[in-house]
Amino acid sequence: MANEFFERIESDVRTYSRSFPIVFNQARGATLWSEDGKEYIDFLAGAGTLNYGHNNPLLKEALVDYISRDGIVHGLDFWTSAKQDFYQTLEDVILKPRGLDYKIQLPGPTGTNAVEAAIRLARKITGRPNIMSFTNGFHGVTMGALATTGNAKFREALGVPAIGAQFMPYDGYLGEGVDTLDYVEKALDDKSSGLDRPAAAIVEMVQGEGGINAASVEWIKRLADICKKRDILLIIDDIQAGCGRTGKFFSFEHAGIKPDIVTNSKSLSGYGLPFAMVLMRRDLDKWTAGQYNGTFRGHNLAMVTAAETLRQFWRDDTFEREVQRKGDVVKDRFEKLARMLTEAGHPASERGRGLMRGIDVKSGELAGQITHGAFERGLVIETSGQAGQVVKCLCSLTITDDELAKGLDILEDSVQSVINK
Ligand SMILES: *Cc1c(COP(=O)(O)O)cnc(C)c1O
Repeated sequence: MANEFFERIESDVRTYSRSFPIVFNQARGATLWSEDGKEYIDFLAGAGTLNYGHNNPLLKEALVDYISRDGIVHGLDFWTSAKQDFYQTLEDVILKPRGLDYKIQLPGPTGTNAVEAAIRLARKITGRPNIMSFTNGFHGVTMGALATTGNAKFREALGVPAIGAQFMPYDGYLGEGVDTLDYVEKALDDKSSGLDRPAAAIVEMVQGEGGINAASVEWIKRLADICKKRDILLIIDDIQAGCGRTGKFFSFEHAGIKPDIVTNSKSLSGYGLPFAMVLMRRDLDKWTAGQYNGTFRGHNLAMVTAAETLRQFWRDDTFEREVQRKGDVVKDRFEKLARMLTEAGHPASERGRGLMRGIDVKSGELAGQITHGAFERGLVIETSGQAGQVVKCLCSLTITDDELAKGLDILEDSVQSVINK
């Protein structure tokens, strides 16, 4: 019944509801409940938006208090006490301890707004239109951001040519033992390579939508160095890999680099409220008043919960160590599942960093069978990669050991039954 209703009224553009065609009604932590009371462990967590779980009570309390005292909800880009608290907490808890001196821009509320702002700023500063992007990169679907997104499904739906970016091979794109940056460096210095001198390079430390491809620390360091030597700005898109997902607040901390510009969104509010942010090196703030605007720049409710996440989880390294510990649990189990699949004639491998993990099963159909079987058994889990060939785990970072074990057991059952077929 619900299916008929939604299919009649909602555009065919819908996506996740195709994989999970039920009506969800409640959620807490890493558990979701359907309308008819069935329980599901959530390994999708809003595609990395719910790092602190559904309706985290610590964040809820701050939000409810703020609403109850009639705190400002919408104020365009007014200075508000919620904004002041968020900026101050970000500076004290995250930026200063990491030696980062960034200015903050709040664009519109979603990730793609942050990417648009970042690449436009890079073009404005350098006067160069081209952006260097990487194979399998995903940076959003508005016009400018989409040009830097690799996936043909999105590019074909643009209706006009996706221009303004040129793609280079990401780490691992040409298989093991090939450093793709050899090509990047040569192309940048060769006047006949066909690569226009870029304003910036935009890259994810771990490609989320692109298949949980983790660039090696050496690769990113070398990319940062290549860019720096040629006066090309480095934009790290931390929209999915940020806010602790890889085991550090910023994914690039693993490499010890300091990007020129950073985009952040998904788990930034921590409560699933839309919120996006651009961090830029202080001297790069070449915007003039109102040159990039929007009605929902820095929603106050999102800033209230964002500030609270920083206070609750990021004052010391306890949380980071927890994420790394749970990441290792997932890694071990995914390695086991990959071995089971490989031994059964379906070559598979484990991949990722922190709690951003996947099993590449080389086939979208096989991955779909595994996630579908998992859903029937009570686990919400999605695939990623250009052919949907990677089963990915993006469970909340606050997931309990019990919930995590339960989810992994369900996934193993599903893998086992696909193998036995
Ligand atoms: C999700 C995502 C975006 C786009 O964010 P939206 O909120 O969907 O616009 C951009 N970059 C990366 C790495 C993402 O994962």
